[in-house]
Amino acid sequence: MQAKKRFGQNFLTDKKLLEDLVNLINVASNDRVLEIGPGKGDLTKILVNICDSYFGIELDKDLLIFLKKKFPKNINAFIGGDILKLNPSEIYASKEFRVIGNIPYNISSPILDWCEKHYEKILDMHFMLQKEFALRCAGNEKTSSYGRLSVICNYLYEVTILKEVSKEFFNPEPKVDSLFVRFYPKKKKVNQKELHNLKKVTRALFNKKRKKISNSLEDILHKESIKKLNLNLNLRPDELSLNEFLQISALVKDDG
Ligand code: SAM
Repeated sequence: MQAKKRFGQNFLTDKKLLEDLVNLINVASNDRVLEIGPGKGDLTKILVNICDSYFGIELDKDLLIFLKKKFPKNINAFIGGDILKLNPSEIYASKEFRVIGNIPYNISSPILDWCEKHYEKILDMHFMLQKEFALRCAGNEKTSSYGRLSVICNYLYEVTILKEVSKEFFNPEPKVDSLFVRFYPKKKKVNQKELHNLKKVTRALFNKKRKKISNSLEDILHKESIKKLNLNLNLRPDELSLNEFLQISALVKDDG
């Protein structure tokens, strides 16, 4: 079957590599696993053999038929459709689950948004990601990839780069490099107001990435609040830690 570019299809078939990935995920028999884009099912094969509760959501109708034929015992485990539209309570009710996927790189951000929406149900996520995107997710104020995405990811997750996977392992071979990454939720419950304000602050500050933060703070804080900050206002946004962003977020003007 020809890979379809519009679905971001770059398949992984190397058994040893896939076993390494599953070992890194540390999949156990009582795990509930949701795989995004099982594709031709090579990773799936290892997962269904280990865990009792597996679901895979696949957008490509041809691959869905292929998967159902390949795994006749798990025929009901495959859902045809778009991960971004999936309501996980339809498969796992209120139970927590793990998310795994060699995902289509062009929808990495929307997939992270989907995970954020279902944060409290997700035990952890393991994704193959384009290297640059992965480094942005895992970035901190001491790394060159640090940006808005890093701050939000660092607020929500412990992000760990587990493995570099070279292009040759993919079929067809992508132009970009890849990293396999774990996202482990840091919180039981997200404080939505704090997250909303953090997003507002990071958007405002990173929009003027090369400028000192003193240039952008007035857009989001009252003058009196700026005076209260225990921060060097000559810093640029990519020199601020998560805690410093949170200090600013706590004083943000209400949007009404
Ligand atoms: N897991 C397989 C592997 O590792 O060989 C396939 C990985 S391939 C990079 C991405 C898979 O996601 C493809 O099978 C593609 O059809 C599927 N896909 C693309 N967009 C999707 C979406 N919005 N929802 C669910 N699956 C999607």
